[in-house]
Amino acid sequence: MEVSSVKKLEQMEFSLESVTDLSSSSVSSSSPAVATFSCVDGVTELRFLPSDSTHCFNFDLASAQLFKLGPVHFICVSDSSSSTEEKSFSQGVNIKFKTEKDSKDFCDSFEEWTKDAVVQGSSLQNGTVSAKKSKFDNKIEASSAKMYFHYYGQLLHQQNMLQDYVRTGTYYAAVMENRSDFAGRIVVDVGAGSGILSMFAAQAGAKHVYAVEASEMAEYARKLIAGNPLFAERITVIKGKVEDIDLPEKADILISEPMGTLLVNERMLESYVIARDRFMSPKGKMFPTVGRIHMAPFSDEFLFIEMANKAMFWQQQNYYGVDLTPLYGSAHQGYFSQPVVDAFDPRVLVAPPMFHMIDFTQMKEEDFYEIDIPLKFTASMCTRLHGLACWFDVLFDGSTVQRWLTTAPGAPTTHWYQIRCVLSQPIYVMAGQEITGRLHLIAHSAQSYTIDLTLSAKMWGPGASQGGILQSSTCKFDLKEPYYRMSQPQAYPVAQEPPLQPQPELSTQDIQTQNDELEEELLQQPPQNPSTQL
Ligand code: SAH
Repeated sequence: MEVSSVKKLEQMEFSLESVTDLSSSSVSSSSPAVATFSCVDGVTELRFLPSDSTHCFNFDLASAQLFKLGPVHFICVSDSSSSTEEKSFSQGVNIKFKTEKDSKDFCDSFEEWTKDAVVQGSSLQNGTVSAKKSKFDNKIEASSAKMYFHYYGQLLHQQNMLQDYVRTGTYYAAVMENRSDFAGRIVVDVGAGSGILSMFAAQAGAKHVYAVEASEMAEYARKLIAGNPLFAERITVIKGKVEDIDLPEKADILISEPMGTLLVNERMLESYVIARDRFMSPKGKMFPTVGRIHMAPFSDEFLFIEMANKAMFWQQQNYYGVDLTPLYGSAHQGYFSQPVVDAFDPRVLVAPPMFHMIDFTQMKEEDFYEIDIPLKFTASMCTRLHGLACWFDVLFDGSTVQRWLTTAPGAPTTHWYQIRCVLSQPIYVMAGQEITGRLHLIAHSAQSYTIDLTLSAKMWGPGASQGGILQSSTCKFDLKEPYYRMSQPQAYPVAQEPPLQPQPELSTQDIQTQNDELEEELLQQPPQNPSTQL
């Protein structure tokens, strides 16, 4: 095995601008210092000796980690526990170099010296990565993850989310209305993207925000944050997955936007609860706190015919002399396995909705692998039922104000729209008839879910007490393959109808300037680019 040129040396020294104990708050007491790497009896060590002090800081390089906070500003910490799962940091120092070159040389040496010393993990420039295969990589296909983070690494997709003013405005309002939950607190932004939520938290007075982002967007976030000097000092961007990186301290509050279509698509909620278990202090808060999947049966003859018609192409017996009918069944099944994503009129719903609650503070990661929801509705009209319509909302359970972000039909449209699972075999219901069934979500390794839906109409009228099922219809869907119906003509002119809960319209400027009048700050503008959600 080749021994690196640096390691051949028994000792190596670097002079520093300053070093301060991380546990002491005052930076002004910092003093010039010398950092020494050494190897004595097989133990590799890093020692910081401040010039004005007899007390030095010793770090065993087997557990020491280096975090970059700025071009010449780092922290060095070492953990007391040997487990990589449950790390607690026993000591830490704030270090500053005179020049960027000094800091780079030090980092290179740190990496060399820790290479052999670190048993369980390897140090990176910004955070650390466990050497063993991460929780994320174990359950998610590499090709899916690659596409996923490539997508989020592009500014246009972050812009699409930022331009969903219902979404971003509600986050802003929820943070600003609950300043006391952020002021002076340590915050972790789980999946920070452009860093927008980190900057909201900083605006609300956060002491420090760790913005964790796995995609290349982390670099853009750094640039954006650096261009906002009011916050830059208090935000550290860490590029990596929340499953893999380590943080130097526990968080008082997590903020994240991990919701996908049907709430659970993209499987990022699992990362959110992993971040909770890894980074949040026991009494910490989560923004959002809970989520609810809402469901109701719907009737939409236009949609049903539109989908059935798509497969009709394969009914042709003479397509340039070729009989396409052998593939008709497969095509029909293919179209009806796609959940339909669009904004529909709530009048298509044929029963009062029910919901399934997911408490982000309590759910275990594994609880997301399979979500089984028994369904029970009472039809409010006599109709042909085409499937199940779903949407979600999340609650920011702030100490001052509780705010919901809703994606309900009839409410201002978001980039999530709503989702409908259309049954290839509709069922007929009478007013007052009970509709039962099951929505069974099974997570798959492409960061999404297989959906099994069954809807049944129970016996109705005389003999109903015997409880028999009259008709039943079952379909399987892949949440990863939605049919975005936004460019299609809408069966119901939504714009002409008043929303269910009318809210005053505000302009973008309003939301940025009226910090103290946050009561009605939900904007109603639909996103510009509707079809770019994964
Ligand atoms: N917080 C931003 C972006 C939300 S989109 C906003 O509200 O605008 C979700 C982001 O989380 C994406 O940028 C994605 O790359 C990131 N992400 C998803 N899973 C992650 C994980 N396991 N670790 C770190 N980042 C993750």
